[in-house]
Amino acid sequence: MQAEIKLKKGKEESLQRRHPWIFSGALQSVPQGIEEGDLVTVRASDGTLIGTGHYQIGSIAVRMLAFGAETLPEGFFASRLSEAAALRRALGLIRPDNDCFRLVHGEGDFLPGLIIDIYADTAVVQAHSPGMHFCRFQIAQALTQIEGLGVRNVYYKSETTLPYKARLDPENEYLIGSYNGSVATENGLQFNIDWLRGQKTGFFVDQRENRLLLQHLAQGRKVLNMFCYTGGFSVYALRGGARWVDSVDSSSKAVSLTQANVDLNFPGCNHHRAIDEDAFKFLTTMESGEYDLIVLDPPAFAKHRKALHNGLQGYRRLNAKAFEKIAPGGILFTFSCSQVVTREQFRLAVFSAAAQSGRNVRILYQLSQPADHPIDICHPEGEYLKGLVLYVE
Ligand code: SAH
Repeated sequence: MQAEIKLKKGKEESLQRRHPWIFSGALQSVPQGIEEGDLVTVRASDGTLIGTGHYQIGSIAVRMLAFGAETLPEGFFASRLSEAAALRRALGLIRPDNDCFRLVHGEGDFLPGLIIDIYADTAVVQAHSPGMHFCRFQIAQALTQIEGLGVRNVYYKSETTLPYKARLDPENEYLIGSYNGSVATENGLQFNIDWLRGQKTGFFVDQRENRLLLQHLAQGRKVLNMFCYTGGFSVYALRGGARWVDSVDSSSKAVSLTQANVDLNFPGCNHHRAIDEDAFKFLTTMESGEYDLIVLDPPAFAKHRKALHNGLQGYRRLNAKAFEKIAPGGILFTFSCSQVVTREQFRLAVFSAAAQSGRNVRILYQLSQPADHPIDICHPEGEYLKGLVLYVE
């Protein structure tokens, strides 16, 4: 029998609207003997059943997995994962020329605390909650059984994503299969993906559609791909006929990965350079008018609410540099992946930077995360990636 948790009076409202988080302040009491990662049955103060979720110590005390169920139904993970796969299939993401996509985007796939990215026949699984950590073997097994997905290896990578205080000491390891190469295909382009040593699950699949848009605008342009990481935007720019591409990152590993990905797709390419340099330093010292297409895709400047003010200043300063230096008629792709920064706040930060430059700036596109990073309509917190494509006169 799993433990039962009762909510304080009135605290069931957001759950009735199917928001999947229960904050610790909403609990009437925590039952004796309950442990982090346990499945719990949640009831309203009058005893009405709300559903089942994973318990955790922290400000989010329960992440709901199934509404209206006392416990998880048989085959729960197999069925949620199949639904996730069916959605990606419907989106046209599983194709011979595209075998890299996000299969599970946490709350957006009704699996809070779980991220799964697919790279050809390898699935990289990331648990963000102790509950998901304890379910990792079940999840891995279910993954290999999804028809048409072709997952042979499951790499578990949660060393840095699980709450440190839970003392789970997870190891990054293969739960099923082993390393057998790491080239995946995105929209017909090939990428070496280093899930063993790379950031997050190894690749930012969330920029796939934005990279494709950049490809269509890159013809004849001189491109600066700032914060290039694996060089995704650079490779698409080259396919789009860019005259020259400079890829910049302050990590030497990222710079070599970018060069390797350019070589993989365009062997002998003589109009690309990968540069190991700090963004602000590079943008400050580069000549005005050198580039007419600039991509700014920095790491999250505000990782939590307390860092919001400084984060917004960071976006403003970064974008101000680009507006100051971009060639007339230039196109700027600028992004924020900070979940705590709203679309409006980001736009305002970029707007102040534009105003400061005194140039005419128009918004061409307003970008977002792609459909394999869906947002549960009851969980607006799931929206994190925002971008603007700007035309600078
Ligand atoms: N645009 C990439 C993802 C960028 S991730 C893509 O499409 O895949 C952010 C990158 O910024 C990381 O590779 C990190 O090494 C780099 N970075 C962080 N701080 C930096 C700085 N101050 N200057 C340059 N690069 C930086």
